[in-house]
Amino acid sequence: MQDLRWRVLWLLMGCLLVCLLLWPLVGLRVTLDLFALAVTGYLIGHFYWLDKLARWLKKPILADIPAGSGVWEEIFAALYQEMRRQRSSQTQLTDALERFQRAAGALPDGVVLLNNSDQIEWCNATAELQFGLDLAQDAGQPIGYLVRRIEFRDYLQAHEYGEPIKLKSARQADVTLEIQLVPFGDNQKLLLSRDITPLENIEIMRRDFIANVSHELRTPLTVVGGFLETLEDMDSEMPDATRHYFHLMQEQTGRMRRLVEDLLTLSRLESSQTVPQEVDIDVPALLRIVLTEAQSFSSGRHQLFLEVDESLHLSGATDELHSAFGNLVTNAIRYTPDGGEIRLTWQLRGQDAQFSVTDSGIGIEAQHLSRLTERFYRVDSSRSRATGGTGLGLSIVKHILTRHHGRLEVTSEYGHGSVFSAVFPAARVVRAVMP
Ligand code: ADP
Repeated sequence: MQDLRWRVLWLLMGCLLVCLLLWPLVGLRVTLDLFALAVTGYLIGHFYWLDKLARWLKKPILADIPAGSGVWEEIFAALYQEMRRQRSSQTQLTDALERFQRAAGALPDGVVLLNNSDQIEWCNATAELQFGLDLAQDAGQPIGYLVRRIEFRDYLQAHEYGEPIKLKSARQADVTLEIQLVPFGDNQKLLLSRDITPLENIEIMRRDFIANVSHELRTPLTVVGGFLETLEDMDSEMPDATRHYFHLMQEQTGRMRRLVEDLLTLSRLESSQTVPQEVDIDVPALLRIVLTEAQSFSSGRHQLFLEVDESLHLSGATDELHSAFGNLVTNAIRYTPDGGEIRLTWQLRGQDAQFSVTDSGIGIEAQHLSRLTERFYRVDSSRSRATGGTGLGLSIVKHILTRHHGRLEVTSEYGHGSVFSAVFPAARVVRAVMP
C-alpha cells in the first residue's frame, strides 16, 4: 500500500505539472476547468470500482471477483490471493477437525468435550452409549443433568481430578466404567470413560477367592489350635522337647489364624467403598480403650501417653476406627525397643481432625515410606514375624481411612522413631457439647 500512496502522489503531481504547463498557453480559467474535469473523471473511475467491490462483497464468490484496472487491479488481485489463502487454511482446519472427530469416534473409550460451564460440546459414539447421551439433543446441556450419579456429581464438583472414579454405566447396569476428567485450555474439560468390566470381574473373583479360602481355613485352624492348646496344657509326662514343639506349633497356628482374620477383614473392607453405618464416635473415649489395650500389649515395656481434645468427635464406624487406631498403636509398640516412648494425640489440624502415634522406635528409611500400605510389604520381615505381624496391618488401616475419606501420613527418621497420622476431613468432624 506504500507503493499505492506514491502512485497517487505522482499522479497528482503530474496533473499539477500539466496544469502549470497549460496555464500560459490557455489561461488560468481553462486550466482550472480541465483540472476539475480530470479530477472528476478520476473520482468517477474510483466510484465505479468501489461500487463493484461493494456489490461483490455482498456475495463474495471467489470466481466472480472483478478484474479491476489501475490500482484497483492490484487491490482485487490482493483480495483474491487473501481469500484463496483463507479458503485453503479453512479447508485444512475442517479436514483436521473431521479427522480428529473420526479418530475420537473410533476410540474404544468414551470422550466428552465439556466447556467451562461443564456443558457438553461434543462426544463420541462410545460416550453416547456408555452415558446414554444423544449428541444431537444433548449438546449444550450440563453434564451433571445427564449423568445423575451422586459419585459423579461429587467428583465433578471436587475439582480434584488426579484419580479416576468407578461408576456403573447408565445404560447397562452390569457395565462398570472408569471415569477421569482432564482439565485443559480455559477451564474446559475432557471426560474420558473406559469400560473396565472384565478387570472388575477378575478383581471380584480374586477378592471372592481370598475370602472363600480364608473362610474355609478358619474352622480347621480353630480346631487345630484348640487341640494343640489342650495337648500343651495336659499335665502328662510329656518330654520338655515335645512340649516345646507343641508350643511352636501353637505359635504358628496362631500366626495363621491372625493372617486369615486379617485377610477376611481386608476382603470385607474391599467389597464396599463406603462405611456401612455411621455414628457419632466419642474418639477420646475410644482412645482410652485403645490405650488400655496397648498397655496390656506392651506389658510395661514402654511408656505410653495420651493427649486428646475431649470435645473432638468423629462421624464414622466405631469398630473400623478402633481397628485402625489399634493397628497403628500396636505397630508403634512392636517397632519400638523396650524402654521407648509412645505418644497418642487426638486434635484438630486446621479444619481437619488428626490422630497421631509418635514413637521413639527403630524408624523407617525414606525409600520404604511410599510402599508401607502395600499388602505384605515389610521393611524387616523377620522383625515383623517375630512380633506377630501379618504384613497386612497398614493395608487395613489405609482401607478404613479411605472409607472415611481420610488419609494416612507417615514421617520417620531412621533410628529415631516414626509418626503415623490418620487425618480426617472437616466434613467428618463433630464438635461434642461438653457438660
Ligand atoms: P506388619 O504386620 O509387618 O507390621 P504392617 O502393614 O502393619 O505389617 O506394617 C508394614 C511395615 O511397616 C512393617 O513390616 C514395618 O516394617 C513397617 N512399620 C509399620 N509401623 C512401623 C513403626 N511404627 N515403626 C517402624 N516401622 C513400622
